[in-house]
Amino acid sequence: MILPIRKYPDKILRTPAKDVAFPLSKEIKKLTKDMIDTVRKADGIGLAAPQVGKSVKVIVVDLEKNNLPVFVLYNPRIVKRSFKKIALEEGCLSIPGVFGIVKRPKKVTIEVRNEKGEKICFTDDGWIARIIQHEIDHINGVLIIDHIRKYTKGEEIVKGLKEKKCI
Ligand SMILES: [Zn+2]
Repeated sequence: MILPIRKYPDKILRTPAKDVAFPLSKEIKKLTKDMIDTVRKADGIGLAAPQVGKSVKVIVVDLEKNNLPVFVLYNPRIVKRSFKKIALEEGCLSIPGVFGIVKRPKKVTIEVRNEKGEKICFTDDGWIARIIQHEIDHINGVLIIDHIRKYTKGEEIVKGLKEKKCI
């Protein structure tokens, strides 16, 4: 089932998400499946549960276009970050039309739980690291507009939304 994507300035995008419990409930299993359908339909790469209105630590990363399986991350957290940072352009399904340069650590080690609740650690220094850092921000209530120093597209959209929020 495809879920509607929450858009900034929806408050749920600013609410830190809660851990999921194991064994996984029927609701979380259904949410995971729906999130995979939703990220595919939206032509996105990553999606975090707050973006579909659920304040839980579930992230899906769809790399099918690169012939890789869908990654599902439960309760992910960054346990190690490289000192070296790189600046790349990012966008977000929850802030359509807005793009900007975001600086993040190049290499990160991430600890996650799989669907059985087993702890898994992995390290990446490529674009998977980048996507997952963006999605982990979502479960902590952080958005790209908090990081962007230079907009490449849509700065006026963000300004307009901010003004609306203050009324
Ligand atoms: Zn996003």
